[in-house]
Amino acid sequence: MALTDITRREVEKAIEECDRLGRDAFLKHHGFRRARRYLLSYEGEQYDSKAIVGAAHGFLPGQQPLAAGDFSGGAAHAAGLLRSLGFDIAEDHPVSGPTADDLVHRVTHLKVNRSSGHPALYQPIALLWAMGRALRGEQRLLPWTETEETLKALLERHGLRGERPRPDYPVASLHHVGVWSLHDYAEPVTTAHGDAKVRRWFAANQPLGGLAEPLYELFRDSEVTRLAVIDELADTFFDGLDCTPLLADVGLRDIESADLPEVTEGEPEQWLITAAEYERGCRLVEEREAKTHGERISRTTQRPRRSRAARHLVLRRSKGRCENPQCTGQPADVTDRRHPILEVDHVVDLAGGGRDHPSQMVALCPNCHAVKTRGSTREVLREILLRVAQERHDAMPNTI
Ligand SMILES: [Zn+2]
Repeated sequence: MALTDITRREVEKAIEECDRLGRDAFLKHHGFRRARRYLLSYEGEQYDSKAIVGAAHGFLPGQQPLAAGDFSGGAAHAAGLLRSLGFDIAEDHPVSGPTADDLVHRVTHLKVNRSSGHPALYQPIALLWAMGRALRGEQRLLPWTETEETLKALLERHGLRGERPRPDYPVASLHHVGVWSLHDYAEPVTTAHGDAKVRRWFAANQPLGGLAEPLYELFRDSEVTRLAVIDELADTFFDGLDCTPLLADVGLRDIESADLPEVTEGEPEQWLITAAEYERGCRLVEEREAKTHGERISRTTQRPRRSRAARHLVLRRSKGRCENPQCTGQPADVTDRRHPILEVDHVVDLAGGGRDHPSQMVALCPNCHAVKTRGSTREVLREILLRVAQERHDAMPNTI
């Protein structure tokens, strides 16, 4: 007898028992705690999914109830089983689950598989695809057939030579670190690395899946997070490779400037970035700095990649105006996308020890940029701009 032998009949008996004993006595009797996440809704009442399944097992002929420790699959497993029997499961956010920032940290610290020499691209391809979906506000969870088909095509187009187009690989790995949520499956999620086992699990269970909800929401709402994650994935997985075609394919091309406000008359408030967003951006930029520091020599590309997130923060901070206090006037014209004509400058070259961080970067109009690069007063201007960058950066969280 297995959990899958349980039918609605046993579940309804367990529900009756819970009604008779009362929730807490029922949980105590069977050795469960209150459900944190998955609640079974039945005739207007809510029940603890895992405890109900445990008790239901005891109503199978010749079987004993199962206690919490007897379950290998956890609460999600019990909830999946109940759903498969046609019961409604109300899913609450876990009280102490990972925050969106925790999840971003996991994404920027993924384990890299280098079995073929170069980092395998399964995970970044899956993540960037899902990020593009979040950006467009598309449905977070997709049936497995849809995920499989779309991701397979992307892996075929953008995977490394010799990588097999296996969508189950990245989804299983990302699920394992809590970044990808899976729902509506009956058997416990496989943790096996065995090739056939993983594929078989997905084929048999057809999970509904997508990015973990807090991460999806952050990717949807926070441009600087998207940019910082792209920076990180590019650094970690695409060293020496061009990820632009992939970014274009998943709808993430040009995102550096896509969300900047258009230049309109007298509406600088459109440029506002919240203190939380600026701080989150700086924190991510700083994490990347700490991580890449000292790594440059071992990379195939000697030139450090510049942070898209840092550039974005500087443009937002500039509110579309040249940040040189001595600016004699930036062009009144705008780009085709109606963005201001501005260049983001590292006041001290990265090669000369400057930081790829908003506190040492400024947005300059082309005139000021030319003076700063080759004007006779460039040294004086550089000192001024260094001070301005630091001051504007320091003032940022307070000026919103
Ligand atoms: Zn200027």
